[in-house]
Amino acid sequence: MKTILQQLQQVHDRIAAAAHACDRLPEQVHLLAVSKTKPIAAIEAAYQGGQRQFGENYVQEAIEKIQALSATHLDIEWHLIGPLQSNKTKVVAEYFAWVQTLDRLKIAERLSQQRPAHLAPLQVCLQVNISREANKSGILPEEVAALADKVAQLPQLNLRGLMAIPEATEDTEKLKSQLLELQQLFDRMAQIYSSLDTLSVGMSNDLEIAVACGSTLVRVGTAIFGTRPT
Ligand SMILES: *Cc1c(COP(=O)(O)O)cnc(C)c1O
Repeated sequence: MKTILQQLQQVHDRIAAAAHACDRLPEQVHLLAVSKTKPIAAIEAAYQGGQRQFGENYVQEAIEKIQALSATHLDIEWHLIGPLQSNKTKVVAEYFAWVQTLDRLKIAERLSQQRPAHLAPLQVCLQVNISREANKSGILPEEVAALADKVAQLPQLNLRGLMAIPEATEDTEKLKSQLLELQQLFDRMAQIYSSLDTLSVGMSNDLEIAVACGSTLVRVGTAIFGTRPT
């Protein structure tokens, strides 16, 4: 069995190869290590390998880990990549550096109000439902401009980009066309908002195609930490 360190290195190699294949620089693609359901020791192992950005899905689980690691791992940047209910915004505003799953103005307003003044603004991405699946969170592509306009005015939020969880499909052409639509949307928004530099898409199984479609932040769990209990 490979160690977390070896698997982390393999993911870096995959990102570099994918970037070179489409004439991008590997440094243009950042890696978010998705540590949901994984123990503190796994996070520490990846940290030893130089990893600093970690993503968590479940607020309660994340807060426990952040608190446990906060004394010794000060420079970890925590990203919330799971759904956020309005009754959890306060702890999220206090503990996370990023929220990638913003899809409602009400949540955005609460996060901005509740972000402690001594901290840098919360970095946020709007979650876009690029596959238009009925049961999926995120706003539709045509709703992005209106929400971005409102979010950009909130003082304690910094609008950094767009995030998407593509459809689980074997049809790579379909996947690619959805990702290219997302990339075009991102490029249009980045012309309006100079703070936009993050297109968060790509996971263990599809990071190569995401990098080919302009991803600047891949979110990888399984390929670093191994499979999760289902
Ligand atoms: C779990 C999760 C990931 C990581 O998925 P893997 O397939 O394990 O790499 C990425 N993004 C989100 C939003 C997730 O929930």
